[in-house]
Amino acid sequence: MALTGGSVPPTGRRPKIMLIEDDADLVAMCDAYLTRAGFLVRVAADSRSALAGFQHPCDLVVLDLGLPDGDGLDLLRSLRQGDDTLPVIVVTGRGEEADRVVGLELGADDYLVKPFFLRELVARIRAVLRRAGREAPSPAVIHVGGIVIDTGAHVIRAAGEAIELTPREYTLLEFLATTPGRVYSREQLLSHVWESSVEWQAPATVDEHVYRIRRKLTSAGVNMPKITTVRGFGYRLDT
Ligand code: CA
Repeated sequence: MALTGGSVPPTGRRPKIMLIEDDADLVAMCDAYLTRAGFLVRVAADSRSALAGFQHPCDLVVLDLGLPDGDGLDLLRSLRQGDDTLPVIVVTGRGEEADRVVGLELGADDYLVKPFFLRELVARIRAVLRRAGREAPSPAVIHVGGIVIDTGAHVIRAAGEAIELTPREYTLLEFLATTPGRVYSREQLLSHVWESSVEWQAPATVDEHVYRIRRKLTSAGVNMPKITTVRGFGYRLDT
């Protein structure tokens, strides 16, 4: 089933991810991104709702160790007492080396340090699920307006024809298409698409890439989706 501005759900079962994180903005981004990648996401914003949520089965837990109502490590400890096979990826802030080590000692399967890239989160989840012998969804095919994005083959087509994009242009368009309607600043795009920052890369790089993608979409006869400039903030993909 093709959804306008949506993605084709990968065939097969959608693994359930329990995301325990109190940063609402990060949750919104991860939720949208993971859903597009073929996962079912349940969110708990603190230890208490996480404990309540564990009564429902899930396939993998992404656990932020800095929670408002207690230590994420305590939560991991009680989780491991109940189930020592459930895959867990812990998330720590920068400079919380000790937490990361304790997390791994307590049986976490992997860790991510904030700020992390959404693509990296998905890659880690897939790898941990595979190691645990649990099924990971196949990469999604995203239908957005007049284009089809094959995230497995890294190809974008319009009317069946591949649009010639550089790897960076592809990654930028795919990233925006994963969360249509959401505005990203140039700094956020540098971070998520270039895995860089304003100290290393001029924000004008983003503008140049957007300009080239727009030109290529236009010459491929694509009116929608389009990358819209949001004055004073950045860009979003409209579908
Ligand atoms: Ca937190």
